[in-house]
Amino acid sequence: MNPFLELGIRHDIVNAITELGFEKPSPIQEKAIPVLLTGNDDFVGLAQTGTGKTAAFGLPLLEQLDFSFNQPQALVLCPTRELCLQIAKDLEKFAKFMDNVHVVAVYGGANIGDQLRQIRRGVQIVVATPGRMLDIIGRNAIDFSNVKYVVLDEADEMLNMGFQEDINNILSETPEDKKTWLFSATMPKEVRRIAQNYMTDPFELTVGTKNTGNANIEHNYYLIKAKDKYAAFKRIVDFYPEIFGIVFCRTKIETQEIAEALIKDGYNADSLHGDLSQQQRDKVMKRYRERNLQLLIATDVAARGIDVNDVTHVINYSLPDEVENYTHRSGRTARAGKTGISISLVNVKEMSKIRHIEKIIGKSFERKQVPQGTEVCEKQLFAMVDKVHNVEVQEEQINAFLPQILESLQDLTKEEVVKRFASLEFNRFLDYYKEAPDLNIEARDARGDRDRDREPGRRSSKGFTRLFINLGSVDEFNRGDMLGFICNKSKISGKSIGKIDLKGVFTFFEVEDAEVEKVFQGFKSVEFNGRAVRIEVSGDGRSSDRGSNGRGRGRSSDRERGDRNGSSRNGRRDRDRSNGGFRDFSGKRKESRSRY
Ligand code: ADP
Repeated sequence: MNPFLELGIRHDIVNAITELGFEKPSPIQEKAIPVLLTGNDDFVGLAQTGTGKTAAFGLPLLEQLDFSFNQPQALVLCPTRELCLQIAKDLEKFAKFMDNVHVVAVYGGANIGDQLRQIRRGVQIVVATPGRMLDIIGRNAIDFSNVKYVVLDEADEMLNMGFQEDINNILSETPEDKKTWLFSATMPKEVRRIAQNYMTDPFELTVGTKNTGNANIEHNYYLIKAKDKYAAFKRIVDFYPEIFGIVFCRTKIETQEIAEALIKDGYNADSLHGDLSQQQRDKVMKRYRERNLQLLIATDVAARGIDVNDVTHVINYSLPDEVENYTHRSGRTARAGKTGISISLVNVKEMSKIRHIEKIIGKSFERKQVPQGTEVCEKQLFAMVDKVHNVEVQEEQINAFLPQILESLQDLTKEEVVKRFASLEFNRFLDYYKEAPDLNIEARDARGDRDRDREPGRRSSKGFTRLFINLGSVDEFNRGDMLGFICNKSKISGKSIGKIDLKGVFTFFEVEDAEVEKVFQGFKSVEFNGRAVRIEVSGDGRSSDRGSNGRGRGRSSDRERGDRNGSSRNGRRDRDRSNGGFRDFSGKRKESRSRY
């Protein structure tokens, strides 16, 4: 017998989920469904994203509501628009063979009129983000007096996003005797408080261990120098030709810059951050979901609720400020029982953060070596050989040309033909990675770095000038904010900025010598909170080789920072072709905007 039937789910729902490929319940479904089907208890379920929570609460809801009655009987609150749409869609799919099931998705950033019309027409299940829900309640446009169940999905995320107040207000609009089902990946005290305040003796269930990352995720880190980060990142990406990844940055500006640099270097990437309009976000997400994008570069907030299966890698280009966010980030891979890799690029100073994260998630990280250029070439070569094996041959079309092709290649042996076809791709990587340096920090280098870091900026690094700015952490800047602020005002790239040493009321930062003038120009008459912003060259801030072209960072890493198609003038085109369906340059570049 189908195991879902055994759990007490009726045939028409089981038929629908069977069509979706659900053969047996996931652990949370197996444990939660029998409890929720009784309809007697408040419920707290602790489970990571991607474990099948939607069906865990969705199937019991479909079992228990009265669909002959067109009034809201269940309310599902979730943190993001994406998740809201996803849940509503999933519920509709589960209910494919049921009659008169009406689900509405209510979320911000979309036409409220349409949503109100749907509600007026009659719905039984409302899936909503808190802000828009309150708006609709405020218009007296919904009657919650028949609500029997409220589901709080990803409760920790909702609280992280500041929805505490809204949730309280919404819950107070629902009947006293409703049951509340709360799902959360983590259980910080704020979530615990909701459970205490709004639930009576809830049934608690934990799938996996508390605060622990998904067991199917491998956590790796690469120890590199901060200045080599981008080059190392590209090498890792090149080492995984089939990568389908989400890359996390700390700020909008960093997100945009990395995406732009990657696109320039011929990768298939785009950015997702808070400055995009909803329409732009949807477009990027659609391209990613449909795999027309290979790398999605995102901020934590923008990536919340992203639910895309088969993400192979999560890359922490910058570690999150909040350690809890690491769990959310890495949970974007290894969904639905798959495996995934979470990669962090760190310098020596950030190692303590890795150790801290290890404690929180209860798992060890493994240090990996940044692949050598030759290893990348080898990996790419065999990926291409695989592609040759798997390519779909359009017999009819190609046959027309085959005689001619064979004739022009007839003077070559089979081995020579193979060699030449392989070289078409291989040469590009070989050219690019020829003489590529080892980017791993060796023990000796690491010590050197630490020594330098211990005396922050007595001297500036080679090719850089150390500047002073009269803003610091008391002005509520973190290093990412400061980087963004400086780049934005000076109109220079973040890559031209070296170390940032944030102090209480001031900050030292390094700027490539060639860009120093722009910084002075950019800050000529800038005020911050009514205070004139002042920039000065700090003490012995000038670097020794000032007056040269100002790029003292090492030739080979400069090269890796640039276009990896290197000397090949056709490189970009080759890359486009080699990436086949993955490539999509149609998305227009966005203007750089920021909160400043
Ligand atoms: P969560 O809400 O926990 O983030 P979802 O409910 O979105 O996770 O489920 C993650 C993915 O796993 C979805 O694509 C969903 O269709 C799939 N899934 C859920 N339950 C099962 C199951 N029992 N068998 C197979 N796939 C499932």
